Amino acid sequence: MKVSIVGAGLAGCEAALQLARSGVEVDLYEMRPGTMTPAHTTGLPAELVCSNSLRSNLLHNAPGLLKEELRRCGSFLMKAADSCRVPAGGALAVDREEFSRTVQDMLTGEKLITLIEKEVTEIPSGEVIIAAGPLASSSLADAIGELTGSGSLYFYDAIAPVVDFESVNMDRAFLQNRYETDENAEADYLNCPFTEEEYFSFVRELNGADKVSARDFEKEIHFQGCMPVEAIADSGDMSLAFGPMKPVGLIDPRTGVRSFAVVQLRMENRAGTAWNLVGFQTKLTYPEQKRIFRMIPGLENAEFVRLGSMHRNTFINGPSLLDERMRLKTDVRIMFAGQITGVEGYIESIASGFLAGSIMAGADVLPPADTALGVILRYPSETATDNYQPSNINYGLFPPLKRKPRGGRRARREAQAERALNSIKKWLLLSVVSSTEQGVNACGDEYHDK
Ligand SMILES: Cc1cc2nc3c(=O)[nH]c(=O)nc-3n(C[C@H](O)[C@H](O)[C@H](O)COP(=O)(O)OP(=O)(O)OC[C@H]3O[C@@H](n4cnc5c(N)ncnc54)[C@H](O)[C@@H]3O)c2cc1C
Repeated sequence: MKVSIVGAGLAGCEAALQLARSGVEVDLYEMRPGTMTPAHTTGLPAELVCSNSLRSNLLHNAPGLLKEELRRCGSFLMKAADSCRVPAGGALAVDREEFSRTVQDMLTGEKLITLIEKEVTEIPSGEVIIAAGPLASSSLADAIGELTGSGSLYFYDAIAPVVDFESVNMDRAFLQNRYETDENAEADYLNCPFTEEEYFSFVRELNGADKVSARDFEKEIHFQGCMPVEAIADSGDMSLAFGPMKPVGLIDPRTGVRSFAVVQLRMENRAGTAWNLVGFQTKLTYPEQKRIFRMIPGLENAEFVRLGSMHRNTFINGPSLLDERMRLKTDVRIMFAGQITGVEGYIESIASGFLAGSIMAGADVLPPADTALGVILRYPSETATDNYQPSNINYGLFPPLKRKPRGGRRARREAQAERALNSIKKWLLLSVVSSTEQGVNACGDEYHDK
């Protein structure tokens, strides 16, 4: 068998590597750098287009559990991410270029994978995984629309700006982790503190700023987890102070007190030369971004390594189109993976690629519903079809516990994580038996003993 994969993004690369591990040949099509998307800036595979964070590593947060399951199942991209991490407290953030290059080395080191630089404009024949992401090229989106008969849906996300560390005024900004009590602990966040007056004039400028307007033919719907900063400001004068600019757990060492509001910056690369404004996704025009973000105390002379921008997000109506194995109900040789199925986020897309590769390679037994991988597999096919929207993984999507432990929400989530890791362990054992019987290696042997 030979499988064509469209898109060498997060899902496509993981799927290709899983297939190759099982001895399946793969043609991996990628249109970059010849044809770029509005958000990618390189020709490298598995490019992280916005934040460099893969979110929490902690098990009581669902993305943390998903990462741990992926590690135990032998995900290649998780391995790459762990090897390129940069400090980010309880989160897993990576040096984005090093991450992509590590994945590139994995792909080129695998003789069963052929990387083909080409924009795919029609659905390839034979077994296919479409992993073209939220920015799938329009000709491919048209081909998918023709095939599914339902067309594609659109909404916008926005990218946060990145500043050069050298240009930050450290007489105003300070390094500190939220709620850190150990004075000697290394800080992963750079904080820009606001007085009340500075905060309100900042909000006023944001409210009056020029924005890039949505194109007529596209409907503008913001994904809750990625609201542009100006849209948050627009929803109320104090919304930012209770949202991305919340000052709780941060004491300005110069005043010894909590500031009225704080903008946090997180390290963007290992060298610590570039830092991104956390939660500051934006679609302000470029000149407005420079003018208004330089009002942030400490960023008066900021040099922007990258400015924020707006972009389209394309996804199919999974529940009406896909079966429980992420295959098109009307043509099961075609599978979809990654954000185009309606899972949302880097780690969710990697997980979706892992599942697509394993299932296409012949994995017979599917991950149980009470695992994070089970949630990722089922979300695009089992969610209600009305107003289907992409979603990050969260514990609300897991089946409830039979018996609730005492100790509140955190204790409940820890119990859900424990249940999931037990189920994954059993599933891995079952998969090994099943794949050995079929002569395929559907999951990562090196992780089974963990
Ligand atoms: C601008 C933006 C910012 C985002 N920010 C975040 C974030 O901060 N954190 C987060 O967790 N998630 C974020 N997401 C959501 C999501 O996690 C990422 O988009 C993620 O990369 C999706 O993975 P994927 O594998 O599905 O698609 P991608 O990683 O985008 O991979 C798809 C690949 O297919 C290629 N391609 C497209 N069309 C064709 C074609 N016709 N022929 C050949 N190749 C093609 C593309 O060039 C791309 O390389 C963001 C999404 C966008 C669009």
